[in-house]
Amino acid sequence: MTAQPVPPCALCLKQLPLQQSHVIPEFMYQPLYDANHRARVLTNDAAQGTRPKYLQKGLRVPLLCFDCEQHINDTCEKPMKAMWVDHQPYADPMIQEHQWVLPAQPDAFRRFHLSVLFRAAAARTLDSAWKNVFAENHLPDMRTALLGTNPISPRRFPIACWGIVDQKLELIPGLVVPPVDRRVLGVNAFYFIYGGFGWLYWCGSHFDEQIATVMMQPDGKIPIGRTHFAEVGHLCEVAFEHLRRVGKASTNKGMATP
Ligand SMILES: [Zn+2]
Repeated sequence: MTAQPVPPCALCLKQLPLQQSHVIPEFMYQPLYDANHRARVLTNDAAQGTRPKYLQKGLRVPLLCFDCEQHINDTCEKPMKAMWVDHQPYADPMIQEHQWVLPAQPDAFRRFHLSVLFRAAAARTLDSAWKNVFAENHLPDMRTALLGTNPISPRRFPIACWGIVDQKLELIPGLVVPPVDRRVLGVNAFYFIYGGFGWLYWCGSHFDEQIATVMMQPDGKIPIGRTHFAEVGHLCEVAFEHLRRVGKASTNKGMATP
């Protein structure tokens, strides 16, 4: 019996021992561990009423070498944890229907989200949770952006975001939904839910000007709306409704910057 060839590191492509890597980092899961250290993961079916699935210790896959794991940790995860989890830049509960949020380090914010999209796309064949993140053609661009030090263009992998809230309009961090792929405003996109927010990552070779009104802006500000948990079962519709509201609000002077 011959040994299976070991795949290279997904980021540097070198043949090196692989770490057990998170796609969505642990600090985005931690608020949702219950007393038995299980994270609650909802699938589309679960959100529509069947039993939610539970996941031990988050999802890990053999993906990155030690150095790349460290690189992602230093350039993406540590800044994101500091600017988003340790020092929240957004209001919770989300009393206002929309808020504009400026992350303390917009370049690192973009880099973090690209790293999640990259890891999910690279892990597509390793775990069924990421099976919908088919972005093979964009992996080389993602690798270059993540390995380099230049800021990532806001128009290359645009990001949109909204809070998932309960009846009190408080964010629900305890929700992880395996991503789905959709065409949104004419461009392929992947819709993730984790850390209390829905995240839409566009991943296309062209850019639609409509996206410019709803995405994280070139100056780093991001328009954040809110969606009730009960609506999450219809992932695509939720995304479209959010974008419709934000798009409308963006062209309306009523969407004030806090
Ligand atoms: Zn590597």
